[in-house]
Amino acid sequence: MKHTSNFMRTRRASAALLLCALVLLSARAQDQPPKEAGTFRAPDLVELVKLDKTIKLDIRYATENNFAGRAVYTEARAFLQRPAAEALLRVSRALRKKGYGLAVFDGYRPWSVTKLFWEITPADKKQFVADPAKGSRHNRGCAVDLTLYDLKTGREVSMPGEYDEMSERSHVNYAGGTPEQRRLRDLLRAAMEAEGFAPYEPEWWHYDFKDWRQYPILNLGFSEINGRQ
Ligand SMILES: [Zn+2]
Repeated sequence: MKHTSNFMRTRRASAALLLCALVLLSARAQDQPPKEAGTFRAPDLVELVKLDKTIKLDIRYATENNFAGRAVYTEARAFLQRPAAEALLRVSRALRKKGYGLAVFDGYRPWSVTKLFWEITPADKKQFVADPAKGSRHNRGCAVDLTLYDLKTGREVSMPGEYDEMSERSHVNYAGGTPEQRRLRDLLRAAMEAEGFAPYEPEWWHYDFKDWRQYPILNLGFSEINGRQ
């Protein structure tokens, strides 16, 4: 058709505008955490090192030394919801008697970082990252990634695999490595389980606090957290 009526032109323009709006809306929806039904406890994120000076931080995500190969946090800090943090303090106290401290790799993680991890992880390794459509227990402030350090040397212990290693060596029941490495992994697990943390089988370093379902998925940056401490 050579001539287009004004009416048709207007219709086409409206359709194009509508399409643009839909594309923008769906792009925005993908940048937001999933909406969840139900009631949740009010978030009460607290900074771990302010509660227990013996907790060491090894926040790899604030450095280039992580699987993303770049810093995804601007600050090396770790937070958990208060009941989870208090349980972790009890774990720390119990392990101190055995000569070990806790070295934390990560606690609360903003949802936007979970989304980034999902996007950069190949399909065959997705069991090591959370689906942003469901959110991560880290996003709820109820998951912690950690290891032990020796109180005498201050050095992190050697575990059967490395933190964030995407291999079978990360499994909590991996039978390889040295007996001492397995002993330390199992020592951490027993101490965490005694205080209400459940292991995540593919990752020896990851633990979920029992009350994670009670907290919403959050997307706050660390500097936006105002813990009462
Ligand atoms: Zn984790």
